[in-house]
Amino acid sequence: MIVAILGAGPAGMSCANACLSFGLTPVVIERSDQAGGAQRANFHPNLWLLGAPDESGAELSRRLAAHFSGLSGVTLLAATQVEAVEAAAQGFRLMLSTPQGARVIDVNAIVLATGASPRTTPELEALRARSARVIVGPLSEAIRDDIHAARALILGGGDNALDHALYLAERGNRICVCTRAAFSARESLMAACRAHPEIELRGQCRPDALTADALGAEVVWGAERARYDWLLAMFGYRPNTDLVARMAAEIRPRLEDSGYVVTDAWQRTTVAGIYAAGDVIDNVQPAVATAIAQGLAAAKAIERDGKAGRVSSKRRAVPSLL
Ligand SMILES: Cc1cc2nc3c(=O)[nH]c(=O)nc-3n(C[C@H](O)[C@H](O)[C@H](O)COP(=O)(O)OP(=O)(O)OC[C@H]3O[C@@H](n4cnc5c(N)ncnc54)[C@H](O)[C@@H]3O)c2cc1C
Repeated sequence: MIVAILGAGPAGMSCANACLSFGLTPVVIERSDQAGGAQRANFHPNLWLLGAPDESGAELSRRLAAHFSGLSGVTLLAATQVEAVEAAAQGFRLMLSTPQGARVIDVNAIVLATGASPRTTPELEALRARSARVIVGPLSEAIRDDIHAARALILGGGDNALDHALYLAERGNRICVCTRAAFSARESLMAACRAHPEIELRGQCRPDALTADALGAEVVWGAERARYDWLLAMFGYRPNTDLVARMAAEIRPRLEDSGYVVTDAWQRTTVAGIYAAGDVIDNVQPAVATAIAQGLAAAKAIERDGKAGRVSSKRRAVPSLL
């Protein structure tokens, strides 16, 4: 059975690895130019994975990707977009756009492992287009390397916003964190930020105006006007489910109102033969360990469903590497 795995983050890579154990043939389709997923840029230690306490997210991601790329029997189509998905006689037909041109592949099953992306707004995108000093989402190289002895405004009130406030304040920056409602970050982070002399926390605060230029951003709150060298927005995440809209209506898995894919405990979506794993699902605790476990479970479910006749196990030609 050919399994198209969309996304080469921890969930997709784990699913591909497990497919090999269960006699399935994985074809992994990744829109960026390399495997690794969201942790590729995480310079913090991964505190949630037992067994490697000092390893950063980026190191972990490289370790997983090295194992994945050494697996024989896995096809990776990188820098590839899924343009459309249709029902086919014994499964699904994927229309792909690859660096070498358009390509069509037929598969027995699909695993959605496309993860999540930082939330943004049209206003923020307009500011970001105007200034490289406007950053949307956490963990960029600019945050790690470029912000020194600066004033930064962080919009957002969750763990990421406060985590980044502490990270930057400890590196000699002055930080204002502004959230339009109450802060929702965990108490230990709140306490550390309150105690830090270079961090100002502003709850229930909604800027009246925000502008940006090459040197940073300017914000207006009532009669108050302030300039910052950097503007960072940490508004949480949204699932990468935009490709579901490019699937034929009769094979479109159900999404929650929030956009996350609905699955059962076997990683099955509401469409037979389509599964989902990792951050594309509204998990209690999105994490590398969760994604790896769900990728493994999805492969097992496909094997079981194939044997039970719930998914076609008709042999198909294995797509060759481009
Ligand atoms: C700031 C931050 C800190 C975190 N800290 C930790 C931590 O300390 N410990 C921990 O365990 N977890 C942490 N996480 C969570 C962890 O990164 C995720 O839970 C994990 O990466 C989820 O894996 P995934 O494979 O589901 O998704 P991702 O890692 O997001 O991978 C999804 C992949 O799919 C690709 N993709 C997206 N759309 C498409 C498409 N249409 N077609 C093809 N490919 C597509 C993406 O390019 C990406 O490679 C953190 C996350 C963030 C954002």
